[in-house]
Amino acid sequence: MSVPILAYHHIQAEFGGCLPYTTLTQFRRQIAFLHDQGFRSISIADYVSGAELGPKNVIITFDDAYRSAYTDALPVLHQFGFVASIFVITKYVDDWNRWEDPSARFKVQHCSWEELRELAEEGWEIGSHTVTHPNLKTTSSTAAWHEVRYSKEVLEDRLKRRVKVISYPFGCFNDRTIALVKKAGYEAGCTLGYSAKGPGDQEYALSRHGVYFFEPFGLFRVKLQDNLLSSLDQVKQKLMAAAAQNALLRFVWTKQKFL
Ligand SMILES: [Zn+2]
Repeated sequence: MSVPILAYHHIQAEFGGCLPYTTLTQFRRQIAFLHDQGFRSISIADYVSGAELGPKNVIITFDDAYRSAYTDALPVLHQFGFVASIFVITKYVDDWNRWEDPSARFKVQHCSWEELRELAEEGWEIGSHTVTHPNLKTTSSTAAWHEVRYSKEVLEDRLKRRVKVISYPFGCFNDRTIALVKKAGYEAGCTLGYSAKGPGDQEYALSRHGVYFFEPFGLFRVKLQDNLLSSLDQVKQKLMAAAAQNALLRFVWTKQKFL
């Protein structure tokens, strides 16, 4: 059974800025909609383990572990009885997004260890988003192994629970990435728009639908379906992921927004 997997990033009060985000008003409307439609949130680990699933499931994920997941998303999800999965860049816990915007034009804080601990206690699934957020396809094997293995170790050590899932930065992975992730002991991996090519790798390339501020509400409903329109949304997601990993495009985008 296919379960829609949503990928959020930053949640903020107003429109503006250059990070991938959703406004709090949009987020609240989307989560209320899931609730009204009878969806139940499950973890990725439960999904891939083949645990007993209800008839209408959704997986809600947050990449980058911005603090807004704790301050803004958690109260809304709690109110409607949902949990989420959050993917942490371990080097930047309790730090601002220097990895993303070194110019500091758009500083956003990441969750602290204490906040991540609270999320875990709320039933959230904590996953790795590597140590430094590199493109795992283009880094060396040694570096990719460190990113995948060490982030898992640190999270497990600090949060005292097993980390079973990884989200690939920019949604980027290849066969080598999947092999390393399996070797490190993960049970699943998340992408943005892409699926696995090889049989037996499906759990290591779970395709997610990103949710973004510029999308009309109707498109959110499409992301929950399993049809042609939903597939087209995944094509758009692939293009966005490709653009996000391109440093030049990121630079141009930032300049456009701020100069
Ligand atoms: Zn990311």
